[in-house]
Formats: sequence, structure tokens, C-alpha cells
Amino acid sequence: MSNFIYFFKDGNKNLTNLLGGKGANLCEMKNLNLPIPNGFIVTTEACNQFLDNEDNFFEILKPQIKSALVNLEKITNKKFGGNNPLLVSVRSGAPVSMPGMMDTILNVGFNDDVLKKIITITKNQNFAYDLYFKFIQMFSEIVMNIPRKEFEKLDKKEFQNPSEKITAYKNLYKSLIKKEFPDNIEDQIFLAVKSIFNSWNNERAILYRDLNNIDSSMGTGVVIQEMVFGNYNNLSGTGVMFTRNPSTGENKIYGEYLLKAQGEDIVAGIRTPEDISHLEKDMPKIYKELITIGKNLEKHYKNMLDIEFTIENNKLYILQARVGKRTSEADLKINLELAEENLISKKEAILRIDVNSLYKIINGKFSTKALETANLIGTGLSGSNGVACGKIVLNSKNIPEEGDYILVREETSPEDIKGMYLAKGILTAKGGRTSHGAVVARGMGKCCVTGCDALTISEKEKTIKINNTILKEGDIISLDGHNGNIYLGTVDIEKKTLNEDFFKLMTWTEDFNNLKVRVNADTPEDAKTGCYFGAKGIGLCRTEHMFFKENRIWNIREMILARNEEERNFALEKLSITQSKDFYEIFKVMNGLPVNIRLLDPPLHEFLPKTLEEKVYLSNRMNITLLEIEKRIELLKEQNPMLGHRGCRLGVTFPEIYEMQIKSIGIALNLCKEKNIKASVEIMIPFVGFLEELQYIKSIITKTLKNHDYKIGTMIELPRACVLSDKIAKEVDFFSYGTNDLTQTTLGISRDDSAKFLHSYEEKFIYKNDPFKTIDKEGVGELLKTSINLGKRENPTIKLGICGEHGGDPESIDFFSTLNIEYVSCSPFKIPLALLASAQSEI
Ligand code: PEP
Ligand code: MG
Repeated sequence: MSNFIYFFKDGNKNLTNLLGGKGANLCEMKNLNLPIPNGFIVTTEACNQFLDNEDNFFEILKPQIKSALVNLEKITNKKFGGNNPLLVSVRSGAPVSMPGMMDTILNVGFNDDVLKKIITITKNQNFAYDLYFKFIQMFSEIVMNIPRKEFEKLDKKEFQNPSEKITAYKNLYKSLIKKEFPDNIEDQIFLAVKSIFNSWNNERAILYRDLNNIDSSMGTGVVIQEMVFGNYNNLSGTGVMFTRNPSTGENKIYGEYLLKAQGEDIVAGIRTPEDISHLEKDMPKIYKELITIGKNLEKHYKNMLDIEFTIENNKLYILQARVGKRTSEADLKINLELAEENLISKKEAILRIDVNSLYKIINGKFSTKALETANLIGTGLSGSNGVACGKIVLNSKNIPEEGDYILVREETSPEDIKGMYLAKGILTAKGGRTSHGAVVARGMGKCCVTGCDALTISEKEKTIKINNTILKEGDIISLDGHNGNIYLGTVDIEKKTLNEDFFKLMTWTEDFNNLKVRVNADTPEDAKTGCYFGAKGIGLCRTEHMFFKENRIWNIREMILARNEEERNFALEKLSITQSKDFYEIFKVMNGLPVNIRLLDPPLHEFLPKTLEEKVYLSNRMNITLLEIEKRIELLKEQNPMLGHRGCRLGVTFPEIYEMQIKSIGIALNLCKEKNIKASVEIMIPFVGFLEELQYIKSIITKTLKNHDYKIGTMIELPRACVLSDKIAKEVDFFSYGTNDLTQTTLGISRDDSAKFLHSYEEKFIYKNDPFKTIDKEGVGELLKTSINLGKRENPTIKLGICGEHGGDPESIDFFSTLNIEYVSCSPFKIPLALLASAQSEI
């Protein structure tokens, strides 16, 4: 027959699955000879068998618990119900920490007889009664589900003496349970163990597991341990100590304690606990012992720990130690310092840092305290990390240069760029993670929540509605771009902490980065940010973004609506002046690092005027009738623009646009030569599906750009291009995988509209993830592999990179690191995450 009981001396920390985290750590510490009150654990296996076959199994378990209790009496030299009565705590302890989700019963082993004995030994009636009250309350609440407030009602009554109160407590129990309160100690323990087993399946535990993806088949262990009493006398107390500061990571103990108190008194907040540093004065011997134990435990566990302790009559006991929860900044500092103290290796430090926590360090976060009371009014998708609070503005043109504003739009368009730049955050009803709003916001390092289905906007009324909350323009909301939450009013923000720890980590990752990281940058500022974070080049310069700066949009509108070649060339000339200047500025920043410039990609109609006001202005400016402008716009309209007249198709139909762009690159290169600035350019052709398209555009490039060194490559973002990569590879120096469009075209879902149904797909586990966030390895991933193999076979020196948004997603990077590619490219503020994720994949 299996053994379901482990005494502390028989276990260790590697038996977490069997003994639960709490139990396994108690065993480990017992074996380190730390002052741990004696006890044993009923295993998780027992819990699972009990949950499968309740009563029959418990009959098998009972004799094992009984004999363990006898053994515990021997070890402690106390007896249940004896003259020196043994009392125990009965606690749950699952393999994974589920804070506050499961149950604890203290002072088990009490009855009227034990009360008398404790009064005799301690000569302290208040203390003894206090234990008894607590026991009846906890037992009734946890084992019998009697709400605590029923006892609290009794607590408000006046009693002649405490024994009357005990009788009232027991009568309450009897009236609700229809049975006497159990005085038999064995029954108390059996009932407590059963209830802990059952608590594994209580509603809050199930919910917690669902929310945190915890396997429900683990079961919980039960720890039965001798009680020690922090409320015994003035030389007793209880407290919590972190071995390092969990908020800053500073290597200095942190915590608090209360004298003459039990564990929950600290949490209950009835008395204000003292800072742990005062213990040095209050109880110097205990303080010293605690510090030593902390240091030794850190060495043993190679981590910062959170230690619960109790002092009983000037003797220290450790009740629990576990790896301490900490902020992202503290986690970074602690792991770097543990490596510098040689407790862990650099590799281990890098692996331990949660990539997602870097988001919070780079982009800031709401304070945990503020979030406790924040009023959540809706949720969207996390479009771009970061947090922001501000007044609602519905029109991007109305955002003042100064102040805190949140731009709220149905969806953003390129014309919103200035407003997005001025706003502190962006909220949209439509759009997924690779929609315009999200891509641009990420580039700016600005918080953005997209695809909020519950948001409706009334431009006319100047109001928005998020679920049931109606707000006016000017009302304040707060956005959390890390998880898509939207709050009413202002939520306190913790400032960003790009300190020396952050840069130290970045330097450490360099030793392990096989996959290089480049930046997606369309402006010198983005390029600078990218370099600041360690980018090794520009992986994608979306030239269309340059057309939206300042008043350039009018020049491109003139170019698109030109009636003849002369008008078109005039408009192109103006565009070339600004574009060549932009290229030059970017080359200057990148100083010889590769700059990948993509020729114009989006459908032309995206640039066209939308409002009547804009159309009238353009008609005056170009001296064309409003009617004609509207006719031309109508002609350019497409049902499905993302599969329409875009990418290299523009180059085929309007070669003069690409010629202008290539000419501008040439002008910028000339200027670099003149000024002795190194420039390394890669010209990239978007949306190629046919070899012939590529050859056609390539001929424009080679014809237009002579006397310069440059590389020519193509984006691979259509399945056809993947399967024909052998042919395409022969014509180019590089491929860059546009995984946004490749996902869109492979899965046949729109990157702009799919947010509406994606959450249903994720909820029903049809899609494991949002495929625009994390690469679909099975489908898109296979196409990538096919293309890489074919491309390398025909052109072994071809350079391969990824420039879709997946290049900044840790899980996708982990997959990319298994492919034969050279780099990933992502938005500037994602570079640190990509560097860390790529190092973690290599280690
Ligand atoms: C892509 O499609 O993955 C890509 C990088 O291009 P864009 O997002 O500009 O379409
Ligand atoms: Mg694309």
C-alpha cells in the first residue's frame, strides 16, 4: 500500500509535486537544521485519490494519519489533550503557489479540557481563550462553511465571562450544522484534512487555476504542524521578512513584525506592525539569528526569499520560506546581483528575467496599489505596451501640444499620426495588433489599446460608450497597454526605470545573441531609439510613413490625382526633395549599419482626402473641380484594399513613384559621400508574388540607381512567394519575411478586422494565440521553413530576416531562433525584449 505521509525530515524541495510547495520547503529547511516546528505532510496523491473516491479512500488514509499523529506526539514530547497539550495547524499547500486561494485552520486539538490545561500551564486565561475562539471560528468557517460574520455578530455581544462566549460559539455551530461542535481531537483533524482536500475544488481555487493556467490535476498537500504561539507573551511575536527589498531589489532585508501577535494580526491591520529593522533593538539575539538564517537560505535557494517567522517566548521559529514576489525592477536587480555574487551564473540570471517584465520597465506601469481601487470599465487588445491617463479627445486635430490626452477613435488612419504623437495614449474600437494604430503606437513607444468591441463613439454628441459607461469628450480615462484594460479616471503611474541594471542586462545578452536584432524605423528619431537600445541596423523603413509628416500629404495627393505626366512629375519632384532628406538623416544616424528601405506599399487610396473640407482644399490647390476629385477618389476605391492595388503592383502601374523613391535614395547616398558619412542601403520590394513582378521592379532600380553600392531584396509575404522562393532567391541579395501580411494571406483573415472574432477563437481554443501576435508555427511557420530552404538552396549567400510584428514577440522569437535566419526586426521599444528573448532561446 502506498505511503501517503511524509515527515519533514523525509522530504526535500524536489518533491514539490508530491508534497506541495509549502510542505517541500518545510522539509528542505528541516534538513538544513533550521528551527522549524515539527510536522508532517499528507501528500497530493492522497488528495487526488480522495477526490476520486472519497469515503472508501479515507478509510485507508485514516490509520496512516493516526500513526503519524502518535509519532508527532513522540517527537514533540507533547500529547493531544495531554497535560502539555499538543496543538497543530492544518494547512493546504499546492505544488504551485495559489496565494489566498486555499485554507488554513489553526489551534486544532482544542476542547474544554485542553483549555483548562493550557490555563494551568500558562497561567494566562486570555491567551488560552483567545486560542479557543480562533479555533472554533476557523474550524466552523473552513470546515463547515459557516460565514465568519456570524461569529462577528456574537463578538459584539457582552458576555459575563469568556466561557459564556465559548458556549455561544458552540451553540451557533450547533444551530447551523445540527450537530455538536466536535470535541474529539481525531475527528477535528480528520474533518480538517477532508475539508482541505475539498478546498482544491472550491470555486475561487478553480477560478484562480483557470486564470493562471494551473493544472487542476495536481491536487493539494496538507501540512500538519505543531503550533507555536506569537501571542504567548511579550517575548513573542510574528513577522515576515524578505531577504532583499521586493520593491527596489536593494540587498537589504525588508519586512515587518508585531510583538505578542499571531500571523493574521499582521494582515488584519488592527495594529500597525513595526519595521523589521526595529527588531534589532527589541530582540537583538533573535534579529541576528533571523539575518543569518536569511543569508543561508538565500545561498541555499539561490534566490530572494520571503520568510514567515514566529517568536515564542524568545525562541525563533521559521514557519515558511518561499521565493519572494517582487516588482519587475527588483527582479532585474536581484538576478543581476545574485550573478555578480556568484550565487547563480550569468546564463541563469538572463533566463530568470521575464521578458514581459521588461515591457513594464521600458514603458512604465500603473502602481499596484492604485490598481486595487481602479474602476475597470472595459477591455480591448494590448496594441502597444505602456500606460496612459488623460482627457478623451475624439478628433486627432483637436489635441493640444501640451497636456494629457487620450485619442479615442473608431480606428486610426495615417492622418491621425500627429494626434497620436501628441496624445499620451490611443484607444480604438476596431483593429488588431498589427493594425495601423498599433503598429504606429509601438513605433512611438506609446500606449495603445485596440479592438475594444464594447466601445461606441458618437462624434455628433461628442460622447463615447464603453460597456455601460457613457463619457464625454474631456472626461478622464486611463489605458493599460500591457493588458488592454480601460479604467475610469486617473490611475497612478509608476515611472519608468531605465537604469544601469537595464543596460547591464542588455550588455550581458550580447554574449548569447546569435539572432541579430534590427529596428523598424521610418524616422531618424526611431532610428536613434533603435540604436540606443542596441539595434544592429534598420530592418524595415516603411517609406509611406514619411509621406504623412507635416504637409507632405498634399504633395502625394497631388501626385495621385495628377491629370497628366507633367503634373505628376511636378508633385513627385516635391516629394523627392523631402524623401531624400529623410533618407540622408536616417543614414547619418545609422552610420554605416544596414538600412533597409522598402518601396511604397499601401494602396494609394489610403492617402486620399476624406472630409469635404480636405477635398475642397485640394480642388483649389490643384485647380480641379470638386466633382472630378470625387470621381478620381471613387475610381481608386477598392472593396479589399489589402489584397488590392498595393505593394509592387503600384510600382508596376506607376513606375514613376518607385523611380522617385530610388532617385531620392541616390541623392541621399551622394550627400553621404560628400559628407564622408558611411551608408549601407538595402532596397526592398514589397508584396511580390511573381518572379516577373520582381524582375520588372528590379530593372527600374538598376536603371535608376547607378554608381552606388546597394543590395536589392524582396519581402516574402505571400504564400506564392514562399513556394517559389528558389526562383526568386536567384534574383536578390536578401529576403525579409513580412509575417503580418504572410499571416493575413495564409490564414485568410484580415489583420485589420479579425480582432472582432479572434477572442472567440482563442476562448474556444481553435487558435492557440492571436496569430498576428504569436506566429502560427504550424502554418505560417512551415511556409517560412519552405521558403528558407528553397532560398538558401539556390542562393547560399542570401541574407534572411523577419520584419513583421512577430519580430518583437518572445514566443515567436523562440521559434525564429530555430530557423536559418540572420535577424529579426521590430519596433524600437521592443528591441530590448527581442534581445533578451533571443538570448534566452540560445541559452
Ligand atoms: C508585414 O507584412 O509583415 C510587414 C512588415 O509589412 P507591413 O506591416 O508594412 O505590411
Ligand atoms: Mg506587409
